[in-house]
Amino acid sequence: MAEEVRGPDTTALDEVVTFTSELIRIDTTNRGGGDCRERPAAEYVAERLAGAGIEPILLERTPGRANVVARIPGTDPTAEALLVHGHLDVVPADPAEWTVHPFSGEVRDGVVWGRGAVDMKNMDAMVLAVVRSWARQGIRPRRDIVLAYTADEEASAEDGSGFLAERHAALFEGCTEGISESGAFSFHPQPGTTLYPIAAGSGAPPGSSSPPAAGPGTAPR
Ligand SMILES: [Zn+2]
Repeated sequence: MAEEVRGPDTTALDEVVTFTSELIRIDTTNRGGGDCRERPAAEYVAERLAGAGIEPILLERTPGRANVVARIPGTDPTAEALLVHGHLDVVPADPAEWTVHPFSGEVRDGVVWGRGAVDMKNMDAMVLAVVRSWARQGIRPRRDIVLAYTADEEASAEDGSGFLAERHAALFEGCTEGISESGAFSFHPQPGTTLYPIAAGSGAPPGSSSPPAAGPGTAPR
């Protein structure tokens, strides 16, 4: 098929700003000790995935501490899957210390302001905007793309990635790499040097813990 030269998807550019602002307005401050409620942000994300024909599932270990997982099927079933994940909670912000209210999501001077604008509702929004753009344009990735929006990253992760790994590992079957914060941006240790960090991890081998009975799209909400 001939390569079609496309300009920027202006809808996606608009959406990424709107989604970042609106996610910032959903206060998901994580003060630790279980004092956080990500569910409204998880529902916001799930609605926008569903609007693109993607079937998200919401998973909670503790009521209100929702995670969202979805799988976009790739065109090559033999290809390994890629996990793209972001967290929905943010660290506390005291409005008295801010020139812009931290939960306003205000766009000022062409910049989105607020807690989570860089850690990491921005990436949550970018991922949403990209996969919705794919849906509009009929683009399918070669690999399966597994999306995860997690709770409780800023504290113990017991209600977030820890819970998903322990109880819902099957949702991540085939994922050999993941992209998220720290691996999702460059850093500059000295002028002229740009590094893209890669973290290597290891976990329990597949099958060593009891996987959930339900697979993608069928797990309980
Ligand atoms: Zn973060």
